[in-house]
Amino acid sequence: TQAHLDAMAKARALNAYLLETPEQALAMADASDAKIASGGARPLEGIPLGIKDLFCTDGVETTAGSKILKGFTPHYESAVSANLWRDGAVMLGKLNLDEFAMGSSNETSAFGNVVSPWRRKGSEAAIVPGGSSGGSAAAVAARLCLGATATDTGGSIRQPAAFTGTVGIKPTYGRCSRWGTVAFASSLDQAGPIARTVRDCAILLTSMSGADARDTTCADLPVPDFEASVGRGIKGLTIGIPKEYRVDGMPAEIQKLWEEGAAWLKAAGATIKEISLPHTSAALPAYYIVAPAEASSNLARYDGVRYGLRVPGKDIAGMYENTRAAGFGREVKRRIMIGTYVLSAGYYDAYYVRAQKIRTLIKRDFEAAYADGVDAILTPATPSAAFGIGEKANADPVEMYLNDVFTVTVNMAGLPGIAVPAGLDAQGLPLGLQLIGRPFDEETLFAAAQVIE
Ligand code: GLN
Repeated sequence: TQAHLDAMAKARALNAYLLETPEQALAMADASDAKIASGGARPLEGIPLGIKDLFCTDGVETTAGSKILKGFTPHYESAVSANLWRDGAVMLGKLNLDEFAMGSSNETSAFGNVVSPWRRKGSEAAIVPGGSSGGSAAAVAARLCLGATATDTGGSIRQPAAFTGTVGIKPTYGRCSRWGTVAFASSLDQAGPIARTVRDCAILLTSMSGADARDTTCADLPVPDFEASVGRGIKGLTIGIPKEYRVDGMPAEIQKLWEEGAAWLKAAGATIKEISLPHTSAALPAYYIVAPAEASSNLARYDGVRYGLRVPGKDIAGMYENTRAAGFGREVKRRIMIGTYVLSAGYYDAYYVRAQKIRTLIKRDFEAAYADGVDAILTPATPSAAFGIGEKANADPVEMYLNDVFTVTVNMAGLPGIAVPAGLDAQGLPLGLQLIGRPFDEETLFAAAQVIE
């Protein structure tokens, strides 16, 4: 724990941590030492972790990367982080993120962007760590924690993991409780870990998962010992390669890596099968209706009365307006406007209802592939390697949204997906592959990802 606190102090230029909690960390580490001395070590005893600042932490400020929550100190602990502390993990601090987890580069955080520890060959230009869990990915990659919590609504675990050469898994919707995690789009949001190896992710996910009556969408299923599936091999499994993921403009090196990944899985005993997921191209537009619709509803609670920031006004409506105008950043306001529009009378059927229908079709595409004997699906994690800070932030927002083209389908269908580092591009930046699994079959993903890593 002390070594990590020292490393964090030296790496503040990365802006990965919004808040360091050294006193808490050392007290938890002392308690872990005592447990170990007494022979009663728990599964994660003394393991120092970073917590994405979207998870409420009891007595520790939780901002969701937004000015509107500045000064909000919860008096409760999120289910996921409470599970980690129950198992003996140590909290190093709270990790930076895109504001309310909306973004793909960590440039929408109200507290400054995160810098990736990676650089292009021969260049000092700062690179984005991806988003929204950019603080989590950068901290793991820069050795500022042994693992981190993250959340994934449309790719925010898998894309930053791919950009930083780390492993990240979004489990099946319902595997982890959402209780105490700041909501973005409730029907898509899932927590999961980012860590250095597939095995570390498996160990962390076992602890983070489990039934919770406080989240009615949390599955009441036993949690497997995910670590046991790492290294069990993939002999006899069928891996699907969806032809619709061969999108225009994808760099040749990503196409090549994807083919290599399939060859590695084949060499390990899997059968490779070309499959079709015909509604793939509709996923991104449908996601950018469903996610803002839910966000506009979830963010209605930030009114200056109950949480964080309050900016006075001439009456209560004026106070709401001033608080929300000052407290929310540009991307969040954009999402609230889109969401309110697609839910409004007259547009609801044309946008929101259609997007929900597309969601069903996407889900059925996957169901058909799995019914046809496919055990897992291999795709690239992202359509490009990490880009430079500022390179896309000022462009058309849609260009940023295109980052999620391979990841949002998985959230729309509620399936598990893992991003695993698979190689480097010509400029020396990491590239990741994604494996998508059957509902509640994260074990196959751990087994297959371990073959690639
Ligand atoms: N980049 C996507 C968005 O901005 C996904 C974010 C996420 O998964 N939290 O909505």
